[in-house]
Amino acid sequence: MTPQTLPLISLLLAGMAAPAWAQALDSQIGAPLRPWREGEIDIHHINTGRGEAQLLILPDGTSLLVDMSGKTPERPPFSLPTRPDSSRAPGEWVARYVRRVLPPEAEGVDYALISHFHGDHMGAIVEDSPWAANRAYRLSGITDIAEHLPIAKVIDRAWPDYDYPRPIADRTVNNYRAFLAWQTQHTGLEVERFQPGRADQLVLKYDARVYPQFQIRNLYANGVLWTGQGDATRNLFPPVETWPEDDQPDENKFSIAFRISYGPFDYFTGGDLSSINEETALAPPAWGDVEPLVGHAAGPVDAMKANHHGSWDSNSIPFLAALRPRVIVIGSRADGHPSVNTWRRMTSRRVWPGDRDIFVTNVSTATATTTYGIAETAKSTQGHVVIRVDEGGASFRVFVLDDATEDMRVNAAFGPYLSR
Ligand SMILES: [Zn+2]
Repeated sequence: MTPQTLPLISLLLAGMAAPAWAQALDSQIGAPLRPWREGEIDIHHINTGRGEAQLLILPDGTSLLVDMSGKTPERPPFSLPTRPDSSRAPGEWVARYVRRVLPPEAEGVDYALISHFHGDHMGAIVEDSPWAANRAYRLSGITDIAEHLPIAKVIDRAWPDYDYPRPIADRTVNNYRAFLAWQTQHTGLEVERFQPGRADQLVLKYDARVYPQFQIRNLYANGVLWTGQGDATRNLFPPVETWPEDDQPDENKFSIAFRISYGPFDYFTGGDLSSINEETALAPPAWGDVEPLVGHAAGPVDAMKANHHGSWDSNSIPFLAALRPRVIVIGSRADGHPSVNTWRRMTSRRVWPGDRDIFVTNVSTATATTTYGIAETAKSTQGHVVIRVDEGGASFRVFVLDDATEDMRVNAAFGPYLSR
């Protein structure tokens, strides 16, 4: 027991709120992260090196997993190594991480949301992907996680038809659909299509009435954008049949985006949304610049996950100027994450004024060299990044956890930041 602990216990016994110095005990460098508490939001940006995976634990304990990592196999030199190591697949590492931080009474994950159908977000299926115990589908990413951890509901952009803008039928998606078919039939798994505009699809499952100041607003998917009025939406894309054969938007531009609000705190996440297509800048197609419109729908936020791993074609100036984040987390999985031009946009006070702290889950040696300035400017370039929002949302902190082991050890702590 530290000298600080004894008076803290007396205060808590007397029913008094813990003072700031006691909250700072959370952030003892070298100790495991203190578990989530009722009323807080924890947003874990889990680094497996192989794709994105975010776990959100909401104020009443509802859990929301956004993307499930799992790009395989490693392809050096362009890919980052699997963290903690390559003895397990990325999906299994994510499942183990989630199990460690879920509230003890949780049986599994309440929501698993796939932002878009790419292997680094849902788990790529390759020639030698192992089979599930039931032999009905192979294991990678979400299907691997479900092998280790119950999932109550899956949300994606295309259930049940998987036909927008064209039939989606690669090996990874076919396997995923086999997984959904088996799970809905045998385990009672629920599946829904994400519906832009709504604020009642991703909800607190256990004690929503206690947290009326909490909301998740569905902003965008499939070219459909929330207008800011009620639940109304508008379609940014013209009808599919009018799209030029040789100039089609890629899967990234259909990514799901949503905003979490908790009192004054706001957080944005939007998969691999992108803006810039410099080759067609002189005659941009209607879908060329999705990102800024989504940014305006979100409005200013306190924190965000960078789009598309901080790639060159994402996190454009108008998008960042609309969001004006105090904290940015970049989930990287390859060389070039983040790219030098994206890094310059994110760090420039001409894009938006004020301070900002930027955290990257992983930076390769090549990226550290080419994205010049990142070593000095980033708050972190290695490790899981956890945003912990205090009860009510007035303030939040950021913890960087060691990703070489499963100890959840805090390597660095930042904040508190005041929500705006
Ligand atoms: Zn991606």
